[in-house]
Amino acid sequence: MALSPEEQETLATRLKHVQERIERACHAAGRDPRSVRLLAVSKFHPADAIRAAYALGQREFGENYVQELREKAEALSDLPDLSFRFIGHLQRNKARDVVKLPCAVDTVDSLSLAQELAKRAAKVERTLAVLVQVNVGREPQKAGVLPEDLSLLLEELKGLPQLRVQGLMTIPPACDDPEDARKHFRALAELAKVHGLAELSMGMSDDLEIAIEEGATMVRIGTAIFGARA
Ligand SMILES: *Cc1c(COP(=O)(O)O)cnc(C)c1O
Repeated sequence: MALSPEEQETLATRLKHVQERIERACHAAGRDPRSVRLLAVSKFHPADAIRAAYALGQREFGENYVQELREKAEALSDLPDLSFRFIGHLQRNKARDVVKLPCAVDTVDSLSLAQELAKRAAKVERTLAVLVQVNVGREPQKAGVLPEDLSLLLEELKGLPQLRVQGLMTIPPACDDPEDARKHFRALAELAKVHGLAELSMGMSDDLEIAIEEGATMVRIGTAIFGARA
């Protein structure tokens, strides 16, 4: 169902507010605002919310579940230049489905997942843009390659021409003070620099300013744009 006029207005206000935060953070950090992309995280929100954000100029959306992404991509296939990035945990047995969708995969963190994605991408004759997820906070329960294992994984990924590694992504440990995330963002930026990778997906609603100061090229914002998830 299409958004009501009130919902559309709320969305427009929120989106603008987030865009302004990004712009302000860029100016404060002496960066070109065009060097930071906004990934609007739309998980659990209906396709019509994406459509409304698209009408406001937003083009890139983040989704966490393959089935949900497929349904939304189909419902929105009439929108030119709409693109998705898969930011959820990807099971290997979903690789076959995900390569058929108009999305990049930002959560590659093992050779076995990468090999499966490459194999499935080759079958549908496409290349897949990916980010490597790094567990910079070294949290045992969290996905992502450990920093010391990144070099080897990147080396192995060079042998998979179907995957185009654009950069790195991280979800730092949850904390009350956004300033605590800084060292993790800095560590990710350092790794990207060492490996000559351009894209840095880091920073969410509470800490996007800090992420931008530390070099983020993509911030992932959900609630601050679409409101609370059901
Ligand atoms: C859900 C999600 C977000 C967005 O979170 P919000 O708190 O809604 O802004 C960002 N990154 C990842 C990886 C997510 O899963």
